[in-house]
Amino acid sequence: MISKTHAFKFNASFINIMSKKTFEDLIKEVHEKGICQECGGCVSFCRSAEYDIIGFKDPYAPPEYIHKDQCLECGICYIICPQTHILDDELNKTYKFTDYNSMPIGHYEEIYSCQAIDKDFLEKGTDGGVVNSILNFMIEKKLIDGAIVSKTYAPFSREANFAKSKSDLLQSSGTNLDISPQLDGVQKHSTYTHSIPKLNRYKFNKLAVIGTPCQFNTIRCMQDLGVTPSENIEICLGLFCYETFIFEKSQIEKFEKEFKIKFSDIKKINIKEDVIFKLIDDGIGEKIVHIPFNHLKKYMRPACNACNDFTNIYADISFGGLSSPDKYTTVITRTEKGKKLFSQILDAGILKCTDLDSKTKKTMIKLISEFSQSKIQRKEEFMKNIV
Ligand SMILES: Cc1cc2nc3c(=O)[nH]c(=O)nc-3n(C[C@H](O)[C@H](O)[C@H](O)COP(=O)(O)OP(=O)(O)OC[C@H]3O[C@@H](n4cnc5c(N)ncnc54)[C@H](O)[C@@H]3O)c2cc1C
Ligand code: SF4
Ligand code: SF4
Ligand code: SF4
Repeated sequence: MISKTHAFKFNASFINIMSKKTFEDLIKEVHEKGICQECGGCVSFCRSAEYDIIGFKDPYAPPEYIHKDQCLECGICYIICPQTHILDDELNKTYKFTDYNSMPIGHYEEIYSCQAIDKDFLEKGTDGGVVNSILNFMIEKKLIDGAIVSKTYAPFSREANFAKSKSDLLQSSGTNLDISPQLDGVQKHSTYTHSIPKLNRYKFNKLAVIGTPCQFNTIRCMQDLGVTPSENIEICLGLFCYETFIFEKSQIEKFEKEFKIKFSDIKKINIKEDVIFKLIDDGIGEKIVHIPFNHLKKYMRPACNACNDFTNIYADISFGGLSSPDKYTTVITRTEKGKKLFSQILDAGILKCTDLDSKTKKTMIKLISEFSQSKIQRKEEFMKNIV
């Protein structure tokens, strides 16, 4: 039985797995092993999503059955989950990836270090304000109708947002406490859990999506299978991601005590070789605190240990802070589509890019590869204890 809302192009992998594995198997093979990345893909793209078969009952736990009796047992959720790896071979072929040993940062065309010319995007940007500048260009040129971005409500707390103008984008830039209503309660640096479900709402638009590697793994599986609304995604702009964090009330208290940083004083967070906290000016000047990743282990989301993609290998273009100076974003073009778009961006003159010689590019790639390898190793170690 085919759902009214989700259309498919069946491929061999899907036909093989179909009806054999369902959400029940995801629970056993992914959730119960503690490796669910909470990307939201299974919930959003469930073939019967309109009946709320599955959903996030607890925002800090994997999705669960809500109306199990309505499950079609079609297997879509299983096949697109980034932790089942069913479509790895097909995706790797499409995105020219062989393996992490020979390609720790995936296939790429070129590397850049850039910053926004627009002062607003630069000032509010996480790094160089490049991602939002690109989105703004695409909206203005009508290359997309809008973008699924992520709005900050508090440090480490985000909610998916649909942006279709410069002001929407500015409200979704970096980490800005001006738009944070309160800092109490449970807070989480979500991996954009709600962004994928949002796609369903905007299925008639041509969209750009900004996301983490786990989310783009799911989206690329959807595109490979031809399941709606993934065909409306015009471009995937991927962020580097070493790990994300969970900050519940007790952990916020612990963090504040341990690092002598008040959550309410955090003005901006960005990530390079470590996590950088910019604190509000206390009259003496802006204070910057660097905390190494290994000091933040107890706040890290455990399932991130089961993830080995640091640079977002299936994105059209990847972006990160690592290997670029302060106020600059590292840009890696990957697909033909990504390369073409970035060349249009450069021609439009909306970015200032450093003139990188081949030695500097090599050094940048080396550093990014080292982080990738450390993430790959972390997963290998973690998976040894998963049965
Ligand atoms: C969870 C997470 C982990 C990261 N880890 C690393 C890392 O380990 N190393 C590294 O070098 N870089 C990391 N980055 C990327 C880096 O922080 C910047 O996002 C990137 O360099 C782009 O900066 P920018 O100034 O060009 O982007 P901006 O112009 O500021 O635009 C950033 C865009 O990303 C969107 N966004 C913000 N948070 C999220 C989110 N959680 N999910 C989806 N979209 C979001 C915003 O809405 C905005 O549209 C991470 C980003 C995120 C969100
Ligand atoms: S990793 Fe994503 S797709 Fe897989 S079970 Fe978790 S939320 Fe669902
Ligand atoms: S209907 Fe299909 S996609 Fe939805 S939960 Fe059941 S098996 Fe998964
Ligand atoms: S490390 Fe990043 S990409 Fe990997 S599971 Fe965690 S949030 Fe997703």
